[in-house]
Amino acid sequence: KLAGFPAVKTLEEFDFDAAPSAPRARIQELAGMAFVERRENIIFLGPSGIGKSHLATALGIRATEKGYKVRFLTAADLVLQLEKARREGRLDQYLKRGILGPSLLVLDEIGYLPLKKDQADLFFQVIAKRYEQGSVILTSNLSFGDWEETFDGNTALTSAMLDRLLHHAHVIQIRGESYRLRQARQSGLIG
Ligand code: ADP
Repeated sequence: KLAGFPAVKTLEEFDFDAAPSAPRARIQELAGMAFVERRENIIFLGPSGIGKSHLATALGIRATEKGYKVRFLTAADLVLQLEKARREGRLDQYLKRGILGPSLLVLDEIGYLPLKKDQADLFFQVIAKRYEQGSVILTSNLSFGDWEETFDGNTALTSAMLDRLLHHAHVIQIRGESYRLRQARQSGLIG
């Protein structure tokens, strides 16, 4: 396991023909890693199975290869770690080392797990800490208008968070059908 990546995925393995709405040239330009130097964020949006985690992982692995310190976490795992750190009285230390330490923080699957008030507050702290300090790559199946629901219905917190995230960000919206569903259809498994 490499820097927490759940699987090894590369840009070479990504089939852009199967995801025609994914902006190939932009993604290849991002793979040059200037965004990490500029502390910019990347946000991949789109339905489940469309390749968001694949691309986030591939960029993360590319950054690792280029010598950057990278950390990959699902949003759910991040919240668990934050809660554990707080319980153990080392939240400040966790934010300083775990969150500010890596040059690139990849947060996968925002929106699958609705957060309670406390958890939303902790998540916000992560985004506030990284703001203009280091790049974040996020993936979400929710469009920004629906993020509030995930963050305990907290309008003020969600807009303050999106404000910071989007200030220096590349937003990549991918549309279409799940890659796995498409493959299943092509192999005749489903009609
Ligand atoms: P998402 O994060 O959007 O839910 P994933 O990135 O987890 O989707 O993709 C689901 C699976 O399909 C993964 O195994 C991924 O590698 C694969 N996949 C998705 N899109 C592509 C693609 N265009 N080319 C190759 N593999 C893909």
